[in-house]
Amino acid sequence: MAARVAAVSTRRVTILGSTGSIGCSTLDVIAQANATARAAGRPPEFELVGLTAHSRSTELVAQALATRPAMVAITDDAGAREVRDGLAGTGIQVFSGPDSANQVAAAPVDLTVAAIVGAAGLRPTLTAVEQGAVIALANKECLVCAGRVFLDAVARHGSRILPLDSEHNAIFQVLDGSDQVDRLILTASGGPFRTASAETIANATPEQAIAHPNWSMGPKISVDSATLMNKGLELIEAALLFAMPESRIDVLVHPQSVIHSMVSYKDGSVLAQLGAADMRIPIAHALAWPRRFALDVPKLDLATIGRLDFSPPDLERFPLLGLARSVLGAGPGSPTVMNAANEVAVQSFLQGRIRFPQIAAIVAESVNVAARQGLDARMDTLEDVGMIDSQSRIIAANLVERCDAA
Ligand code: NAD
Ligand code: MG
Repeated sequence: MAARVAAVSTRRVTILGSTGSIGCSTLDVIAQANATARAAGRPPEFELVGLTAHSRSTELVAQALATRPAMVAITDDAGAREVRDGLAGTGIQVFSGPDSANQVAAAPVDLTVAAIVGAAGLRPTLTAVEQGAVIALANKECLVCAGRVFLDAVARHGSRILPLDSEHNAIFQVLDGSDQVDRLILTASGGPFRTASAETIANATPEQAIAHPNWSMGPKISVDSATLMNKGLELIEAALLFAMPESRIDVLVHPQSVIHSMVSYKDGSVLAQLGAADMRIPIAHALAWPRRFALDVPKLDLATIGRLDFSPPDLERFPLLGLARSVLGAGPGSPTVMNAANEVAVQSFLQGRIRFPQIAAIVAESVNVAARQGLDARMDTLEDVGMIDSQSRIIAANLVERCDAA
């Protein structure tokens, strides 16, 4: 039986990755929902059970003191002392070290917000799935990385995924439950280099790449938005979440980020979800579902915006979007390879080791090398996922080293 979201009683929540962009926005939504409930004389909507962070120990301590969860985790040992000292005497249990997010994820809750960045979020998210928790999923990399293995675990443990990524949340909001869906249309802002020449893109710095025109996000997803890898990851995320072949998922560049995605039905109707570019809106939708919360966020003002523009994506300047389509038709482990290589390449770009166009080159070459080695040919178990992910990181790291040497 699929996990149910309790309708009215206080729901227990854990946030994996609470100090990140999504984590902080989630805490704001929870604070607003609880304040509204308190003002109306109702019990709180949410009770925080666990918060996890990697290295921002000062922020984690401040969050824990403000929200009083039962437990926190800090996965990077360097921050452990500060968190223990900062929370001494509060009764908040502190876990630290590489497995600590996983330990917090194992505590029984109704809802887990998966907001760690990258495949590092896979193990703790799966632990929450294994408890049968509902997962509000921001961490698309863990879904792309583990694909069917992840979805099989969700089904087996009676868990459920509520999409928190704005595009997938938009689609979730406008799906009508019929079998009459023709196509899904993912919108894309186009990122900071939408109108840039190939030459400008070739010389892009990390500062330029993370300066997203519409959204304020963590550094990794900001670079992914600049390469359009983010839309590629989202294409795979949509194919998995909505059981839709990639040939029926379109990507449409829409620079204003007002329409967050659309569903086209066989009768010619197209349903869209619109809103301000503020992640608290899809977060609140996933957290409140199947109800809605009143939320103090910027409201959409179409008269001021005036016009909405659309164009097809340019796969020549942004080849990673095309690569994401092709890995869906390749070996079952191919998306895992692409995701792992991308994480290595983006990190190397942010460290100044490779140039912007080398991100796409390294990811594409890693996918080719892995296919030649047969690395992507089978992916049936979590062990397969782990092996493909770690081997792909080695392949990509070797390619980065060659760039270093050049
Ligand atoms: P971020 O970098 O701001 O935050 C990442 C969080 O993960 C932090 O709490 C950090 O401490 C934690 N973390 C990082 N490395 C870790 C590790 N090795 N082990 C455990 N925890 C670790 O990232 P973000 O922008 O909030 O994005 C989080 C996820 O949500 C990503 O998968 C991203 O693609 C997705 N997402 C983000 C947005 C957005 O607007 N920021 C929108 C849609 C989807
Ligand atoms: Mg998105």
